[in-house]
Amino acid sequence: MLKGFCVIKNYVSFLFICVLWSCSHKNFSSIFANESNPYPTAELAIRIGEAQVLSIPTNGDVKPQRLICNDVPIMFHEMGTTLKAYVAVPVKTSIKSFICELTYLLDKKEVKAIVAKVKILDKEFQSEVLNVPQTTIDLSKKDLERYLKEKEIIAKAYATPNQAPLFYRPFVAPLNSVLTSTYGRKRIYNNQKENQHGGVDFRAAVDTPVPAANSGKVVLAMDLFFSGKTVLIDHGLGIFTMYAHLNKLKTRVGEYVPQNAIIGLSGMTGRVSGPHLHWGVRVNSINVDGMEFIKIK
Ligand SMILES: [Zn+2]
Repeated sequence: MLKGFCVIKNYVSFLFICVLWSCSHKNFSSIFANESNPYPTAELAIRIGEAQVLSIPTNGDVKPQRLICNDVPIMFHEMGTTLKAYVAVPVKTSIKSFICELTYLLDKKEVKAIVAKVKILDKEFQSEVLNVPQTTIDLSKKDLERYLKEKEIIAKAYATPNQAPLFYRPFVAPLNSVLTSTYGRKRIYNNQKENQHGGVDFRAAVDTPVPAANSGKVVLAMDLFFSGKTVLIDHGLGIFTMYAHLNKLKTRVGEYVPQNAIIGLSGMTGRVSGPHLHWGVRVNSINVDGMEFIKIK
């Protein structure tokens, strides 16, 4: 009798603890959903300023709806029985880890599952001093107006990325020449202004043909105040590449270009200290190191 009472008492205590625990844990539903969760949890370790592929085996019975990594929506694509997405970490971040959560429909009900736990690894970056025309630091009213207008045009070009991938092969570096500046370098312009390099610079004599790093759709091809004659390619799945300081544009907005298509000739337009090709890779709104990105197969 006493033994039976203890069992019931322990069971009630257990339920009580469960209720208390569920109130204090926001991921309670997703943890309990694991029993029927068709998605495994991947463990990724990504260095700051880099990206990695998240490949999740899927099950045809469920319908993925949204993928959120570090509270930000991430583009994904389902091909056959695999869901693919690129997860990037910004060069500046104060956190050490985050999770990716997938919302999917199961029996017409939305269910959440943690599909990745991402650990952020640190990286050191060098710094460099650059000398550029002072007028590109202290902008005149006219230049400032131009820059602000162009900022909007650039934001618009990035605003509606193609969800499905427009590429079928790994990315390649546009040039094989020496890197005159690496990604993430802390730059001090004329001993005044500081920023961190969002791309890589290739040594390139004026008028060197510049090929596209992968197939995609050209979403911007124009002369900009800071980056000079610039081409922006949308590769789908949240990935864009940028080619700046060109001497000549060899493509136009709306054109679908294959990998290695010549999209311009290198030059020294915009804010530069000499001729080179600036190449940028952006993954889900985060600038990443292109030289690391091309290692993803
Ligand atoms: Zn650059």
